[in-house]
Amino acid sequence: MRTVPLLPTAGGGKVRPERYHLARLGADDIADLRDALIDAVPACDTTDAELFTGPDEVEPDSVREAREAVAKEICAGCPARIECLAYALAIRPAVGVWAGQTADEIRTMATAGAREVA
Ligand code: SF4
Repeated sequence: MRTVPLLPTAGGGKVRPERYHLARLGADDIADLRDALIDAVPACDTTDAELFTGPDEVEPDSVREAREAVAKEICAGCPARIECLAYALAIRPAVGVWAGQTADEIRTMATAGAREVA
């Protein structure tokens, strides 16, 4: 069974990732999440950033999928994964692999939570 990490909220509590949008984070909270991510020693700090962000030029789907799979493997062993997921859900990045999820998967996770409480 997969363990779902609880993420920190602005109020000092913890919530499941799909409810993270309810944390209503402000700029200071997001800065704190970024600082926590950096402090947790991200594994990608010592890796080619393009592996996570992709190249500037158009990337064939098969190449992108292979690159993202390698990035996700690195994320799986990253000590900053929970902090990374919290930050990604807060900023909803347009591109990249974050906490083992693509930007699209992060947005889906956040949107699913929003629909759940609508
Ligand atoms: S979980 Fe992945 S993207 Fe996030 S900090 Fe770690 S290696 Fe980087």
